[in-house]
Amino acid sequence: MSIETPSGPVSPYAAGLRCRCPRCGKGALFAGPFSLALREGCDSCGLDFEFVDPGDGPAVFAIMILGGIILGAALIVEFRLSPPLWVHVVLWGPVTLVVAFGLLRLLKGLLIALQFHHKAEQGHLD
Ligand SMILES: [Zn+2]
Repeated sequence: MSIETPSGPVSPYAAGLRCRCPRCGKGALFAGPFSLALREGCDSCGLDFEFVDPGDGPAVFAIMILGGIILGAALIVEFRLSPPLWVHVVLWGPVTLVVAFGLLRLLKGLLIALQFHHKAEQGHLD
């Protein structure tokens, strides 16, 4: 599950989950630490990120994973602490936003790295 590069094999899982370039594993993938926008290319190896097309994949996985995490946490809080309803409203809104952002970054990085690793692209006729 790795590709050969001049600097050695790079695991798509390690590079993707660290939000790093899928070819070299060193350059940053996103424009900033709090951004979901991609850079134009890798600062380290020069890979052009124009090929990237994760589509709605990260959002779909994030919705499913986030639903399980937040619902499970809300149920645990409810049955263990039985707080008033306003606590759930105040607590789970911000927590959901923060966890969703983190999940989207991780999943987008992972799907981009896997797309690069498996050379996935639109189908076309020759
Ligand atoms: Zn790179």
